[in-house]
Amino acid sequence: MKLTFYGAAKQVTGSMHLLTLESGFQVLIDCGLDYENRKDFDSNNRNFPFLPEDIDLLILTHAHIDHSGNIPNLVRQGFNGPIICSEPTVELSHNLLNDSLNVQLIEGRKSKGKKNHKKSFKKQEQVQTLFQKRHIEQTVSAMHGLTFNEPYQVNDELTIELFEAGHILGASSVKLTIKEHNETKQIGFTGDLGNYGSKLMKDPTPMNGLDYLITESTYGGRLHTQDKIAEDVLLNYIKNTCEKFGGKLVIPAFSVGRTQAILFTLKQLYTKGLLPKNVKIYTDSPLAIKTSRMYEKYKKYLNDEAQHFVNQYGDLFGFENLYVIENSKDSEIMSLLPEPSVIVSAAGMVEGGRIQEHIRNHISDAYSTILIAGFCAEGTFGHELLMGKSTVRINYKEKEVHAQIARTDVFSAHPDQNGLLRYLNEVDFKSIKQIFLVHGDLNSMTKFKETIPHPNVVMPNFEESFQL
Ligand SMILES: [Zn+2]
Repeated sequence: MKLTFYGAAKQVTGSMHLLTLESGFQVLIDCGLDYENRKDFDSNNRNFPFLPEDIDLLILTHAHIDHSGNIPNLVRQGFNGPIICSEPTVELSHNLLNDSLNVQLIEGRKSKGKKNHKKSFKKQEQVQTLFQKRHIEQTVSAMHGLTFNEPYQVNDELTIELFEAGHILGASSVKLTIKEHNETKQIGFTGDLGNYGSKLMKDPTPMNGLDYLITESTYGGRLHTQDKIAEDVLLNYIKNTCEKFGGKLVIPAFSVGRTQAILFTLKQLYTKGLLPKNVKIYTDSPLAIKTSRMYEKYKKYLNDEAQHFVNQYGDLFGFENLYVIENSKDSEIMSLLPEPSVIVSAAGMVEGGRIQEHIRNHISDAYSTILIAGFCAEGTFGHELLMGKSTVRINYKEKEVHAQIARTDVFSAHPDQNGLLRYLNEVDFKSIKQIFLVHGDLNSMTKFKETIPHPNVVMPNFEESFQL
């Protein structure tokens, strides 16, 4: 069989790997959007380097758009097979794909509006998105939700089993057992792994008996701050920004995963009576609100601490100081209210979404803090913020940076180098023939590779194929 890396090769976004069996059966693992160079978004994602109609089966590891976001485009171009994923991933993906289409429309209108600002609004409406609403519906209706740890036989040559990856709700690692020429081979894709001991999610469950492993390496080159507790870190920023100076603490957060971890931490602080009474907390992302409901619906997928918390307090996220912003008009008003507050809004890498407006409103305010709480790929605005520039351009406006730009990894949804090595030990990596590193930038991967005591660790290039 042949494994080809069509995405997340020496970069983080755009996960897409194709496994072609000897029989010609083709399995695509993930089909995500590539966000690496924003200006090349359309050319990076519109066309596929293979024929979509030739794919027989798609396995989706989790709902994040850099893994799922291009599936409706694949469907639009002729893919007609089943999509295997975990049960919660079906619903989460539905919401995320709709949101992604909205972002494409908004971004498209923005750029058209800029170029053709004198033309009619109707003209500006003609935005070339990668897919349409009906392709999302087709995608979701092709999804089959599997339960973790239960093998699913696709045909005589292929069996699939999903394992808890601990990254976000429903995130899976996937093991493919392939029978060819009276020989059985087991190939494991970690998908995105979660951080051990993380908020809400369980620890990753290791796959067993693998011959080949394809592992993520997002934070393979660094170590998370070990001694910091999420509640202390967040409370510190709230006290030093909102309570002390009456400023805004603006936190860009992915609507799925990060926002829930942050809101859960805030509720924990609230139940302990530690949250300053005069500080309002705003969660401003319709997708995050829907997702939070999903976390409560699928609470059996969460860790023991979260499940006990729900049993004790009735829910995971709601509390007195928390204000949920649904529509964009309220978002605009809230952002400019002269009051100390915490604004948690999407998107995490500050690529699109309402967070851009909040950052534009407060980035020049010396009493405010912008707290980056997750990974920001190179070329994204979040990454640019972290570079410490004195001026930035956001939503077509040049702004001076006076707010504090801070970063924390306490909410990280990925393991650091030690966590990845722990995972490798748990899957008994020494008995694995070959390990492939994906989903990491070249620097992280190179550092991670040096720490793995295995003779056959590969960092595949884009479109590189391997015979397994
Ligand atoms: Zn992810």
